[in-house]
Amino acid sequence: MIVIEIKKKTTKVNINMAEVAYRVVFEGAFYKIIEDDEASLLLFEGKPISATCVEHGTHGSPYGCPHVERLMKKIFS
Ligand SMILES: [Zn+2]
Repeated sequence: MIVIEIKKKTTKVNINMAEVAYRVVFEGAFYKIIEDDEASLLLFEGKPISATCVEHGTHGSPYGCPHVERLMKKIFS
C-alpha cells in the first residue's frame, strides 16, 4: 500500500540503464523506491521494507523472492 501511495507522488525519474539496470523511481527524505524490470523495492532509511515483483505482486517481506533479491544484489553490491 505504501508503495502505491508514494508512486502517485513521483515527480522525478532517474534513468541510468546503461551502467546499472535499475531505476530510482522516488527519492525522499526517508523513503526511496528502486525498481528494475522484474521488481520494485521500497527502502526506509536505506533498509528494504517492502517490495513488489512481476511474479508475486506485492510482498509483505522483501526477502525470499528471487526477483527482489536480484534487484537488491544490484543495489547493494
Ligand atoms: Zn516475488
